Amino acid sequence: MSDSAANQNVLYGGQFLIKDPDVENTFIPEEFNEEQLMVKQMTEDFMKNTFEPVREKVEKMEDGVTVNLLHEAAALGLLGTHMPASYGGTELDTNTNTLINEILGSASSWIVSYAAHTGIGMLPILYFGTEEQKSKYLPRLISGELKAAYCLTEPGSGSDALAAKTRADLSEDGKYYILNGQKMWITNAGFADVFIVFAQIDGNKFTGFIVERNTEGITLGAEEAKMGIKGSSTRQVFFENVKVPVDNLLGEAGKGHKIAFNVLNIGRFKLAVLCMGGSKEVVSMSTRYANERVQFKQPIANFGAIKYKLAEMATKLFTLESSVYRVSDQMEDLKNKLQSQGESYSVAINQAAEEYAIECSVLKVFGSEVLDYVVDENVQIHGGIGFSEEFGAARAYRDARINRIFEGTNEINRLLIVDMLLKRALQGKIDLVGPAWEVQKELASMPAFETLEGQFAQEHKAVKDFKKIILMVAGAAVKMQMDGKLNLEQEQELLMNVADLIIDAYAAESLLLRVEKLQVTGKAKLDMKVYEAMLSTFINDATHRMVKNGTDALCAFADGDLLKTLLMGLKRYSKYPPVNVKEKRRIIADALIAHNEWCF
Ligand SMILES: Cc1cc2nc3c(=O)[nH]c(=O)nc-3n(C[C@H](O)[C@H](O)[C@H](O)COP(=O)(O)OP(=O)(O)OC[C@H]3O[C@@H](n4cnc5c(N)ncnc54)[C@H](O)[C@@H]3O)c2cc1C
Repeated sequence: MSDSAANQNVLYGGQFLIKDPDVENTFIPEEFNEEQLMVKQMTEDFMKNTFEPVREKVEKMEDGVTVNLLHEAAALGLLGTHMPASYGGTELDTNTNTLINEILGSASSWIVSYAAHTGIGMLPILYFGTEEQKSKYLPRLISGELKAAYCLTEPGSGSDALAAKTRADLSEDGKYYILNGQKMWITNAGFADVFIVFAQIDGNKFTGFIVERNTEGITLGAEEAKMGIKGSSTRQVFFENVKVPVDNLLGEAGKGHKIAFNVLNIGRFKLAVLCMGGSKEVVSMSTRYANERVQFKQPIANFGAIKYKLAEMATKLFTLESSVYRVSDQMEDLKNKLQSQGESYSVAINQAAEEYAIECSVLKVFGSEVLDYVVDENVQIHGGIGFSEEFGAARAYRDARINRIFEGTNEINRLLIVDMLLKRALQGKIDLVGPAWEVQKELASMPAFETLEGQFAQEHKAVKDFKKIILMVAGAAVKMQMDGKLNLEQEQELLMNVADLIIDAYAAESLLLRVEKLQVTGKAKLDMKVYEAMLSTFINDATHRMVKNGTDALCAFADGDLLKTLLMGLKRYSKYPPVNVKEKRRIIADALIAHNEWCF
């Protein structure tokens, strides 16, 4: 979507860096309608009545339990809420789908099976399948009759997925591709009927195929002994002279990368949603335990050290939630717009996810790291019991860890955030040069004396300044590169810093928008002072991180007078007034403690 085509009020992918969003057009989860809340209730009932009674059985991989749960979910329509009605889906809007995934997010190992089936398993067919392929497979995948898996990774190619060695050679009669090779870490491999497989035609044309499990020549490795998500099936899949009908080639020969990368955009977004849902359950677990556990004759929830942890969990998670629903709604708006222009549902959702690919990567990193923070402090709050396998804290801790690894590791996603942004700038989709130049000019001038008036004025200024820091740091680095003094590809440490600056700015802005909207609409569930406390705490801490990441980045490539000038700029843009974060955190923690569960 080009700048010129953009509606004034709509921010397209990556534009958050150079434009100010308006509060009015920002969706917040407090705005769900009746219908969406009914779907939420139905999903919660599924979790309580159908999933919870067999949670332990799933974890022990008892025969058929995971598959039965997929059937039960299918009976409620939960395998096709993101699928076109013409194939048996219900075409729900993006926000409702986000809500469903949020609720299912606490389903430990099972959610991994569900997400692989409904996401990376089904979406390649929806996005890239022919009409025949879609009609043949999607209705049966939606009904749960067939289960899906996605075979991209190999022992020698993980992050470098396109280096896959699995081959596909056309048979002499031209009717089949003959697949030979080995895939690794394949979720759902133990029970899947349909595999999306990536292989190199003639050894060099990376291509997707739909491969049916019962085809001769497919064998499976043993279940992997994993650190976490132990109840999900993860196996190697071997292909030995597997004859795949030519009709089962997916998309175009040699264009498998399009399938692999497109599916990952929405996959990354969903992973953040699942992390958010899982985190909410864990925060409730921590709060209940902190209220119950008595030491030194009082609940440990009374101790400042524990309040700090509860408040941090809540603030990070509320910020994540604000960011997730902001992107969810942006994708929904764009999907609707594309559909109104005549695109099909599937093309529209795929293009919407592609448009917001930068935001999806931001959320993937932020979501998985918030979950890791939450599960870690949850173990700590539980003390010794947290280390015992008899209680849920240890399992949640182990289960969470995979999220920083799959759907593109967090290192790869951080690299992608910066890479995609610069590419969009080069393609003329985002004007980074103009705003970066404005920052340069501002830096060369005397700071104007500003009087900040109105509620959240300081926070608005802080978020604007965060963006200026990014434009200043990235702008200076790109200039160095253009002058031939820096090769950014060789400076990953610097790119990681810039990615972290972007993640913090995006998160802070999303939180600000939500808190402001709560203020304006009066839709806050709790006293506004709780949300204001979260906002000032997050922005205070983000300011410190901006200074650290900004300084590290600048020192990595600048020196002398240039470095001095840039560091002065960093100082100028990091002037959020000091906050009594101790008091603010107590306000936040006390809200949790009073409600004894996630309550925001
Ligand atoms: C439980 C589980 C389920 C999975 N399910 C599936 C599935 O269903 N289908 C599927 O196809 N795959 C699946 N995977 C594979 C997963 O996507 C890969 O593990 C992941 O992409 C990382 O690849 P790798 O393990 O080979 O690590 P590597 O790519 O070897 O990475 C190792 C480390 O090096 C870093 N690194 C790699 N390249 C770079 C670089 N260019 N710059 C900086 N750092 C780099 C990584 O970030 C990481 O820290 C699953 C994995 C697990 C563990």
